[in-house]
Amino acid sequence: MRHPDELKQDRSLAINGGTPRFDELPWEDTGIVAEAADDVAALIRTRRTVYWGGGPHSKRLEADFAALIGRDRAFFHQSGTAALQTALFALGVDEGTPVALSDSGFVASLNAIYHLRARPVFLPTHPDTLQCVDDVAEWTDGTPVHTALITHFFGNVADVEAIRSSSGAQYLVEDGGQAHGATLRGKPVGSYGEIGSFAGSTKKLVTAGQGGLNVYDGPDIDWRMRTYGHHGKSGNFEGVFPGYNFRGGEIEAILAHAALRQLPERVAARNATADAMFEIFDDAGIRTARPAVGLDCTPAWFDVALVLDEEWAGHRDWLVDALVAEGIPGWHYPALIGMPWVKPWMTSRGWWGEREEHILGTERALWDRTLVLGTQMSPQDARRIAAATAELLKG
Ligand SMILES: *Cc1c(COP(=O)(O)O)cnc(C)c1O
Repeated sequence: MRHPDELKQDRSLAINGGTPRFDELPWEDTGIVAEAADDVAALIRTRRTVYWGGGPHSKRLEADFAALIGRDRAFFHQSGTAALQTALFALGVDEGTPVALSDSGFVASLNAIYHLRARPVFLPTHPDTLQCVDDVAEWTDGTPVHTALITHFFGNVADVEAIRSSSGAQYLVEDGGQAHGATLRGKPVGSYGEIGSFAGSTKKLVTAGQGGLNVYDGPDIDWRMRTYGHHGKSGNFEGVFPGYNFRGGEIEAILAHAALRQLPERVAARNATADAMFEIFDDAGIRTARPAVGLDCTPAWFDVALVLDEEWAGHRDWLVDALVAEGIPGWHYPALIGMPWVKPWMTSRGWWGEREEHILGTERALWDRTLVLGTQMSPQDARRIAAATAELLKG
């Protein structure tokens, strides 16, 4: 891999005044099913796009999505973030409750913990898979973990069974927001935790544009979740605790259901795009995050993540800018524990110690040299994008 100093002086790069490799960024698949437009129009003509307690399209979506994951029930929310927050609330997470959290994940999982005033207990990331490490016992040691909130990041699969048992957590919530259709040991992700939580925002495989789905079993979780997401009202009148309006709308439910019906083809298409990139990066000797060796799983790739050589730490943001200038849609995710508000907040609550300081250092070092390319493009575009990225990095 070329040294960042060498690349930064390369005059042929668009960021340094050269000609961009591509005229524009590749076409991006947002996941919205355009063929659902007539159904949406017909719904609007009924003038009933929202129902108190959820409408018929939401209910059909909930039933079909729950069945897909092999659960009794689902609740359709207006965002993935809302779904994560009701999931934690439904399990009884409250002020100061220790919630073990994979640092490998999207910021919404941490935000949900913050807004419930719960205590995050960060779990580190394995550098080869960029998923939460399997054995987390040493990281939760001494903390009575109530719930483990673990993300299947990039559409790859975390071994949530191993994490749950080593964490000592009573409950497990899986954030499968990027991993609809992925499996672990032959079962869908989202079927292991008390609650499987799935974002339905744009680009997600079962996208509503804006939406989120939780899957779970039994009436107790259902009651708490729906009440919380419905102004805290269990009946029509009285609020039993302070809640939110978090339910999904009927327009969004139509879009999500249309996407759900295409899920197998969508997973295959995203995986074909990821495979096209993996082949090129493997040939170039560039490391990509992949499933753990020996773990029985099938990812549904959302992003392909490149782990750059160590000398790239501190230069990754420049590289993302350089790639975008070439017409290559590079992106990155930060270490959650490294976000500027986290340490001051946890310190003020007395939750920051040596363990946190250590994880902060190792997570930053890893995520600061990670770069991602989305799979929301054709395999042809993926091939030219990956080849150009490899050429840039290898010279
Ligand atoms: C997108 C996403 C979310 C948040 O969903 P929103 O619908 O954007 O609120 C949560 N977790 C993961 C893993 C995601 O990718």
